[in-house]
Amino acid sequence: MLTYEHEQVTYFADPAIGLRAIVAIHSTVLGPALGGVRFWHYAREEDARTDALRLSQAMTMKAAVAGLAQGGGKAVVFWDDPHAPRSDAFLRSLGRWIDVLGGRYLAAEDVGASQRDMDGIARETPWVTGVDPARGGSGDPSPVTAFGVLHGMRAACVAAFGSGELAGRRVVVQGAGHVGACLARLLVDAGSHVAIADIDADKARAVGVPVLASDEVMSADCDVFAPCALGGVLTRASAAALRCAVVCGAANNQLLDDDAADALEARGIVYAPDYVVNAGGIINIAQEWAPGGYDADRAYAETARIADTTGRVLATAREERITPARAADELARRRIAAAGRGPYRPGEPSAMRDALVARHDVFKD
Ligand code: NAD
Repeated sequence: MLTYEHEQVTYFADPAIGLRAIVAIHSTVLGPALGGVRFWHYAREEDARTDALRLSQAMTMKAAVAGLAQGGGKAVVFWDDPHAPRSDAFLRSLGRWIDVLGGRYLAAEDVGASQRDMDGIARETPWVTGVDPARGGSGDPSPVTAFGVLHGMRAACVAAFGSGELAGRRVVVQGAGHVGACLARLLVDAGSHVAIADIDADKARAVGVPVLASDEVMSADCDVFAPCALGGVLTRASAAALRCAVVCGAANNQLLDDDAADALEARGIVYAPDYVVNAGGIINIAQEWAPGGYDADRAYAETARIADTTGRVLATAREERITPARAADELARRRIAAAGRGPYRPGEPSAMRDALVARHDVFKD
């Protein structure tokens, strides 16, 4: 906890139902800690804990840079079969445990989770987002995330080429999942030449743009490389192999370490920090407690501002001669320090709290 500067890490178990979970609350200085629930097979408890610690810290930074009044958290749930659906009883048990945290942690969708999971959790607690749009939720965040990445990409292209125009740009997308496929289509609409790769070739083909082999994607000649699969793809070695001017994509934790950031910098490749450009998902969720309730048009308008944020981070990096990743981290830390507050206490009044409590009735039995 000290390594990553966490406020609270809680282990939950409900042996009767087979539930084991860890909720990591990194920071609630800016507001309750929002973060996805990850259902995953972990070989060791230690791996799950490390995942929760790293991912929740990134959520704090993402929310702070996006200017949102919320902190960062993450729930990891031990789940052996990625294709097996959760039972209602399992989700209710998880919901009760999330409820115990009294609103310090707000659940959301993550890898392996679906809106159905969020609706199941919502039967037991108001502290959950991304629920059914018909009942006040913001639904699937992926299209908004892709839209935000597109805007971040425009700003990164301004830094690299002096123009944010995407028409005619050659963009290679790694990962044809929820965000990658959507981003590819947005880029085609913007007039870019897009190619895509996925370890699942059928998924890549379904997008309708030229397909690359997944082991060649990181050395393909292009203007922009967009990582939209897993984290850790940017290493010193992969940075040396890249043949692009810009890296800008949705995947979380793209940089394996600081070395990778330095290697990109040394090669003059503009790196748009992942958590700056992929914040569309949480910007979308924050609209659930905006005055008047969730509104998709407003969510997209707010998300478009990622272009300005990315531009500012890249400009700071240039002026201060630091990597963009470091510039983003410093911006987040400054915002948290400026709040001058301690941790969020359950029951503290806020518009967010009122909105989530008010809608909870529609999920109760
Ligand atoms: P997803 O699971 O729908 O898609 C990921 C895709 O990547 C899958 O199709 C998978 O087959 C493919 N893939 C995995 N390894 C690959 C490899 N080595 N080469 C090529 N393809 C590979 O996930 P998603 O929701 O589209 O999210 C993509 C990334 O963006 C993740 O890192 C996620 O954490 C991040 N992200 C997503 C959102 C969101 O709104 N969904 C928001 C912020 C960040």
